[in-house]
Amino acid sequence: MPAVRKVLVVGGGIGGLSAAIALRKRGVEVDVVEVNPKWDVYGVGIIQPANQIRALAAIGLGERCVQEGYPFEGSRFFDSQGNLLADVPFERIAGPEYPPMNGITRPRLHRILQEAVKESKAGVRTGLTVSALEQRDDGVEVEFTDDTSGRYDLVIGADGLYSLIRSLVFDPDLEPEFSGQVVWRYNVPRLPEVDRICVFQGMKRKAGFVPLAPDLMYILLIEKPPSDSPPGKKLPEDRLAEIFRERLAEFGGPVAEVRDRYITDSSKVVYRPVETLLVPPPWYRGRVVLVGDAAHATSPHIGQGASMAIEDAVVLAEELEKDVPVHEALEAFMRRRYERCKYVIDVSARIGRGEMDPSLGIDAAALTGQSAVVLAEPI
Ligand SMILES: Cc1cc2nc3c(=O)[nH]c(=O)nc-3n(C[C@H](O)[C@H](O)[C@H](O)COP(=O)(O)OP(=O)(O)OC[C@H]3O[C@@H](n4cnc5c(N)ncnc54)[C@H](O)[C@@H]3O)c2cc1C
Repeated sequence: MPAVRKVLVVGGGIGGLSAAIALRKRGVEVDVVEVNPKWDVYGVGIIQPANQIRALAAIGLGERCVQEGYPFEGSRFFDSQGNLLADVPFERIAGPEYPPMNGITRPRLHRILQEAVKESKAGVRTGLTVSALEQRDDGVEVEFTDDTSGRYDLVIGADGLYSLIRSLVFDPDLEPEFSGQVVWRYNVPRLPEVDRICVFQGMKRKAGFVPLAPDLMYILLIEKPPSDSPPGKKLPEDRLAEIFRERLAEFGGPVAEVRDRYITDSSKVVYRPVETLLVPPPWYRGRVVLVGDAAHATSPHIGQGASMAIEDAVVLAEELEKDVPVHEALEAFMRRRYERCKYVIDVSARIGRGEMDPSLGIDAAALTGQSAVVLAEPI
């Protein structure tokens, strides 16, 4: 009989909810605790490459995501004025019934995962977190911030980039690193010609469009911030739209059209520094394991952060289902996950370096195409 029958998932985001669903499908009892009392997410969207769709299909949610998103074939690369440079199609690795890629709004993906967790009958509590953990040979005693407590066979830390579980159980000095770039995003009506990801390479900046629904796409800009505006400096919130437009000044063609027509409301601008992290192996201590951004956070260049979190969930549930001691299951999880997540972080970082310094001659289109082939390998 599997050694793990009762699991606590800390964090009700993409990785934690996927893990809860995958474990409930195998009859494991699951409690989820989410610190955000509203249990909501901010706007914009998620790119779902074929390997993410495959992982979602494995937990029964591939079809729903495609139905509620915008399925498409690949990416197109342009210069800053909108002249086509390369067309990179992707494979249908999730099966002939699934597209090579899908775009979906983050709130829609969150709702699909939340509904599946509720249907699975996992226990969900919001507005609280873990206050203390004590590991024993046969389980983990957990105290929560609402003065309740519980005993679990395994605790999954799925609490994101600034993970509390990582700081409680792993090296507290492990901190995300600033990659050198910041990202701007804004949801706008979809232009008819944006039927796949469109990337526009400027001088040390990259703009792009990602379709999210028949009537919606987002525009993004990834850049090294100017020296007078480092990422630690807070930008005036009421001027974000104006600053975003200024940063897009060098672009012509469809980027200029969207910039001038739609980027008007500062409250709708999502601006974030790009931070990355790779926890050295193993990602478990005793009966506590990290998944998703808590263990490995990538820059967004090949759209793989959420994919890696969902794949973690699928692989962890598969290994825990086996009739082996917990540490063997967690070690097998590590063997299947570490190199793949490291590869995603390394390729994404290389593309980012090439964007900040074009003299490096890094071919983003070629690297994106190669990474899709590598990530098509079974997990
Ligand atoms: C702007 C942006 C755009 C992105 N676009 C893409 C994309 O297009 N494609 C893609 O694949 N990836 C994308 N990513 C990456 C992707 O969002 C992350 O890799 C993914 O969300 C990781 O999932 P996670 O569950 O590990 O963390 P999260 O989704 O961050 O979830 C963590 C959850 O834990 C909760 N939490 C935090 N602390 C605690 C605590 N102490 N106790 C309990 N709960 C806690 C949080 O409230 C949250 O609900 C993007 C990221 C950003 C920031």
